Amino acid sequence: MASGARSVVVIGGGLVGLSAAFHLRRADPQVRVTLLERARVGDAASGASAAGVRAMGRDPAERALALESLGRWPELDRELEGTTGYRRGGGLRVALDDAGWAEARETVAGQRADDVPVELVDAATAHRLAPGLSPDCRGGVHCAIDGQAEAIATVHAFAAGARRLGTRIEEGVAAAALAVEGGRVAAVARGDGSREACDVAIVAGGAWSAPLLARIGVPLPLHGRGLQMLLTDPAPAGLTPVVGCFGRPLSLKQLDDGAYLIGGGWPARIPDAAVNRWQLLDDSVRGSLEVARAVYPPLAARTVARSWAGIEAFTPDDLPVLGPLPGVEGLLVAAGFSGHGFALVPAVGDILARLALGLDPRAHLWRGLDVARHAW
Ligand SMILES: Cc1cc2nc3c(=O)[nH]c(=O)nc-3n(C[C@H](O)[C@H](O)[C@H](O)COP(=O)(O)OP(=O)(O)OC[C@H]3O[C@@H](n4cnc5c(N)ncnc54)[C@H](O)[C@@H]3O)c2cc1C
Repeated sequence: MASGARSVVVIGGGLVGLSAAFHLRRADPQVRVTLLERARVGDAASGASAAGVRAMGRDPAERALALESLGRWPELDRELEGTTGYRRGGGLRVALDDAGWAEARETVAGQRADDVPVELVDAATAHRLAPGLSPDCRGGVHCAIDGQAEAIATVHAFAAGARRLGTRIEEGVAAAALAVEGGRVAAVARGDGSREACDVAIVAGGAWSAPLLARIGVPLPLHGRGLQMLLTDPAPAGLTPVVGCFGRPLSLKQLDDGAYLIGGGWPARIPDAAVNRWQLLDDSVRGSLEVARAVYPPLAARTVARSWAGIEAFTPDDLPVLGPLPGVEGLLVAAGFSGHGFALVPAVGDILARLALGLDPRAHLWRGLDVARHAW
């Protein structure tokens, strides 16, 4: 990446784009940063997210990035001068049967070798960490540094932080095309017909990043999937860690107001891939509640107060594409976070800013996530 961009256009006002903008202006108050968001900031995956902040259970290629990010989360409110709702209550992935328990035991050593501080815990410890768990719980894996935040609060905190430092955030303005001239990015064509000149463009358009890149001949294999979330009515506080389960799709947490937030990757339908619209599926709602209640029986007394979905960009290997696009000077991509990008946002924004500004890009944190692995 050429050093010292003077003007950067960030495409996409999800958390990845907002974090890039925040870090750019913080690192260099002279660089002009314009962020184009075709709808409202946080309208897609970022605002819909379950907002789990975990290092546990990640692909080895994402572990360094996750650990770096988790090191930032406790200080993020101070850095952003905002409120993300972050709290570090730990993560607990339980096993309800022999197969789950075998998987739990298998997963520990590899993670510990990469410095993810997971511990195998027996049933008594699991029940102590999360009172109310199913009596079938055989134990599980605990990660004390995992935690949770609040999606919308985090979007607002990053957007406000980026604006305060001088980013121009334009909502309701789509990037229509990338203008590449002489092998380098020259501008971003805006949906309103004007042209935004820049030295560097950062494509952070989530599930809609691929069409922009396809128009300059780069067929990145990104596709959108709808992911469902359920929120119950509030209950007295009782659940501290984020709870998952081996062999069953679940992410369960209790929010500050007592409501339980239930996710885990249950699919929602996307009627038209070009737009940010989804429909919930009865089977997913039923299936998610069944799993959640089997793992954590107190949920049987709760009703669903709200449900929604978010459209997330997935790659074939479920790992993000991050970094410079080979062959086009000044073009950076950060997309395809495949259902687990929320936690990574502090480190990803920092890396994008470093790449744009020609600073040390801390390559050891994102080895294996580069764009070139999807050869075209
Ligand atoms: C339901 C759900 C639960 C999740 N739970 C977790 C979790 O617990 N932990 C975790 O770590 N991760 C989780 N994730 C994943 C995480 O939320 C995402 O990886 C992350 O928010 C992706 O951020 P993004 O900025 O890349 O994408 P997005 O938030 O989708 O933002 C992309 C933005 O780009 C805009 N855009 C697109 N094209 C253009 C264009 N041409 N011009 C201008 N703007 C454009 C869109 O409108 C959108 O606002 C979850 C995701 C979902 C959907």
